[in-house]
Amino acid sequence: MKTETKLRIAIQKSGRLNDDSIRMLKECGIEFDNGLNKLKASAFNFPLEVLFLRDDDIPEYVEQGVADIGIVGENVLVESGAKVKLIEKLGYGKCRLSIAVPKDVKYSGIKDLNGKRIATTYSRVLQKYLAKNKVKAEIHEISGSVEIATGIGLAEAICDIVSSGSTLFTNGLKEVETVMKSEAVLIGNNKLNAAQLRIVERLLFRIRASRTAKRNKYLLLNAPDNKLDTICKLIPGMKSPTVLPLKQKGWSSVHSVIDEEKFWDIIEQLRDAGAEGILVVPIEKMVV
Ligand code: ATP
Ligand code: ZN
Repeated sequence: MKTETKLRIAIQKSGRLNDDSIRMLKECGIEFDNGLNKLKASAFNFPLEVLFLRDDDIPEYVEQGVADIGIVGENVLVESGAKVKLIEKLGYGKCRLSIAVPKDVKYSGIKDLNGKRIATTYSRVLQKYLAKNKVKAEIHEISGSVEIATGIGLAEAICDIVSSGSTLFTNGLKEVETVMKSEAVLIGNNKLNAAQLRIVERLLFRIRASRTAKRNKYLLLNAPDNKLDTICKLIPGMKSPTVLPLKQKGWSSVHSVIDEEKFWDIIEQLRDAGAEGILVVPIEKMVV
């Protein structure tokens, strides 16, 4: 009997990337059981096995082929130094790795870090950053609770993950340098075979279709016929807008797709151009 090739994907077991990674796979139509205390789960309707791991282990496991592909923060990937392929940036888990100092310390530039102790869990990334900026500082590698390091006298500065900055604020720190920006990324083993690569392609196709859909909205509006040219130019859509005559003479219904980011600007211009009854509808999946 021929056994079907399955791709093993490693995702974070619990933590900041767990929910969004599971959501992304489910939006790709992949169904699996993600019950607690599970180490792995097989998808029911796609050749995928999901391994639930600590995020720090994922780059190495993918490098060694324990998992074929995986999802981690770029920060963890770069820090690991693992030799894997970065397949796709996924657009969630956005954060930055930053250097912070106590808020009442005068700081006028990166040179101020010379001779200081900086506590971090990201020593490799920090080391490279300091070298690039020709700063000689002492890196104190610790395994957690970095934000309290200055308060207890372990270091004069810290280098840690920041998203809103509220943790820094509550610990009396201010952000002074951005070391790197990060988001969740899909990584892959360098030696995937043809059958495995085909599954990666199928998965990527679905990921991109879901992400494109999220970035776009379906738009319907009524337009006076003499304004159709102006209105259609504002919303060119994927190929061109659909224009259908309304029962009322001199009016048409125009359907198109617009980019979420340009949404408010375009809506205003459409109204100024005479559009009425504008409806904006979410798109489930989109293949361009
Ligand atoms: P694990 O138990 O798997 O080792 P962890 O505690 O190391 O988890 P999390 O705090 O869950 O890691 O963060 C996982 C990833 O989420 C980070 O490496 C980073 O890429 C991303 N992330 C996004 N926003 C934040 C944030 N505000 N703080 C920390 N990480 C964030
Ligand atoms: Zn971790």
